[in-house]
Amino acid sequence: MLKSASTLARKVLITPQAYRWCSSSKVSQAPPVVCSEDEPVKLENNPYTKEPRKCLLCSTGIELDYKNARLLQQFVSTFSGRVYDRHITGLCDEQQKKLIKAIAKSRRVGFMPIFVKDPKYARDPKLFDPLKPLRPHSFA
Ligand SMILES: [Zn+2]
Repeated sequence: MLKSASTLARKVLITPQAYRWCSSSKVSQAPPVVCSEDEPVKLENNPYTKEPRKCLLCSTGIELDYKNARLLQQFVSTFSGRVYDRHITGLCDEQQKKLIKAIAKSRRVGFMPIFVKDPKYARDPKLFDPLKPLRPHSFA
């Protein structure tokens, strides 16, 4: 039984059509197609190249505006009121110049304070919480 099955399989494998496909003149003239999985794959771009460095504002796309005082306040020292330098903020030169101009304009207009609280008063306890009044009132 087994021998007859194997001979049948041989007969099926070597059919005249398959033989024609292998020995046809068209196949022999065409360039040999190499499709080995072991060959190195050529990539279009190097995956190890580093992305160009971008500062925080350039990468996130945040626009500096003199009316956004809470954003600008993060770049100002709470103790001295001075604008942090580039090595602290990590901004690029263009954004740092925009930041300084925006802070100056914000201070001129009145959105940001010009004078800062003395650090010795920074840890003063809160005397009351305006959100929790002792008596209910209508203008809270
Ligand atoms: Zn930048």
